[in-house]
Amino acid sequence: PGEQLPHDPTKKTLVVLGSGWGATSFLSKLDTTDYNVVVISPRNYFLFTPLLPSVAVGTLGPRSILQPTRYVTRHKARSVAVIEAAATEVDPENQTVTFSDTSEVQGAVSNTSIKYDYLVYAIGAETQTFNIPGVKEHACFMKELDDAERMQRRFMDCLESAAFPGQSEEEVDRLLHMVVVGGGPTGIELSGEIHDFLEEDLRSWYPELSQHIKISLVEALPSVLPMFSKKLIDYTESTFKEAKIDILTKTMVKEIKEKSVVLQGPDGVKREVPCGMVVWAAGNTLRKITRDLMAKFPEAQNNRRGIVVDEHMRMAGVPANNIFALGDCTATSYAPTAQVATQQGHYLARILRQIAKQDKIKEDIRALEQDSTEGVEVEIKKKALEKQLEKVSKLKPFEYSHQGSLAYIGSEKAIADLPFLSGNLATGGVATFLFWRSAYLSNLFSLRNRTLVASDWLKTKIFGRYVSFVL
Ligand code: FAD
Ligand code: NAD
Repeated sequence: PGEQLPHDPTKKTLVVLGSGWGATSFLSKLDTTDYNVVVISPRNYFLFTPLLPSVAVGTLGPRSILQPTRYVTRHKARSVAVIEAAATEVDPENQTVTFSDTSEVQGAVSNTSIKYDYLVYAIGAETQTFNIPGVKEHACFMKELDDAERMQRRFMDCLESAAFPGQSEEEVDRLLHMVVVGGGPTGIELSGEIHDFLEEDLRSWYPELSQHIKISLVEALPSVLPMFSKKLIDYTESTFKEAKIDILTKTMVKEIKEKSVVLQGPDGVKREVPCGMVVWAAGNTLRKITRDLMAKFPEAQNNRRGIVVDEHMRMAGVPANNIFALGDCTATSYAPTAQVATQQGHYLARILRQIAKQDKIKEDIRALEQDSTEGVEVEIKKKALEKQLEKVSKLKPFEYSHQGSLAYIGSEKAIADLPFLSGNLATGGVATFLFWRSAYLSNLFSLRNRTLVASDWLKTKIFGRYVSFVL
């Protein structure tokens, strides 16, 4: 009973933690005939995060940007077990992972562990709150599908409460003040999407209220989008100015209350600003299980940003050298992006193919050594195997190839910093927006998702976004 775990005693067990960018790109390229493969993740689907802000305002439907993990695994040469559970502990000494069913409905068994020979650790990161008071209680995040749905509900609730008969002008202004915290790409894209919703739909559905809607983007640093070139930062700032989105730079959020946000501006003075909704997009931090795992190797794992890995993505300090980590849970010289996690996943699939070959040859050598037959033939066979082993033992290090940065900034405009010839091409505008759409469409993993996203864009263009949500 339960999920059948692939069990071939001649193969090693490969446990994959996560179903995000890193794990999914790894699985898509992995040759599953080499291992008994088990995937463990609290969500049984892959989420195309770049289009999450579009779901938050209803441009796209939630199902259009998710792909069930079983869609990926069912096409593999050998069956792969997919378990919907969160890993709670990794024990590198006994080579086990303990995991629990954290969903609402649980059966009689909801906690168990599994032994691994190799572990691919791709559990991503969680949203950084810096323990700022009120963030967890009152803000919406923008990381998971639930977050986008929660934001959508809250946004529409603010509108309907503002429309309640007899509401004072001051209260309408408060309810319709939307604060986005974080001037990284998530905060920028989300602000742009909220603005589009306002201009393209809400102005006609709520004509009296729409002029009260105000979007403020708060960023602690002196500028937004530090990863983009100066030209594109200026372009984004001027586009936001035209769109009447206030950018408050050098401003820190110090506290979030039920009906307001406490800001500290460049003058150091704190002020309380009334608002109806706060979306928190202030970056990433490590998950507890990652911190616990790192704490087991304090000498090698001393980077607060994440797991230290070698050039083959192996977690440093692990004596058995059999934990591979990738994506947002690692501390590398690359930014925590889907682009990096994808390339790392593809790379790791190749490495594990090579490791399977090494293991097979080592096994054959061991068998020969145990064989009591002696003679030249056995020696020749052994020499040949050792030569083969030497050949497959050389692992190429991971090399990242940056394909450029793209972000949607609203008003049907996008920005792109693309490597071009030996320099960089920085471009922004409507043509870049079309490029952005086609790039993301082609990056979606399946034809099903591409069709759903393209038809959602078309439906939104023709019929507009929904202004009623039953989620
Ligand atoms: P994730 O994709 O976050 O996957 C982590 C997986 O681990 C998930 O399946 C999760 O359910 C699972 N998990 C969590 N806890 C456990 C546990 N205890 N046990 C087992 N599994 C667990 N990057 C770009 O390059 N371009 C973009 O346009 C872009 N847009 C973005 C937009 C938004 C709104 C966000 C939030 C991020 C965006 N990113 C973008 C960044 C990108 O999404 C991340 O860098 C990427 O998701 C990292 O991949 P990952 O596999 O490390 O983690
Ligand atoms: P981020 O870390 O890039 O940006 C968070 C911002 O929040 C920072 O600029 C930080 O200064 C600010 N901040 C933190 N605390 C604050 C506070 N109390 N008050 C005010 N501002 C505060 O986070 P992100 O935008 O979620 O991006 C995370 C990763 O995902 C990045 O690597 C990013 O490149 C990637 N991503 C890429 C895209 C894209 O390429 N289009 C889109 C989204 C995310």
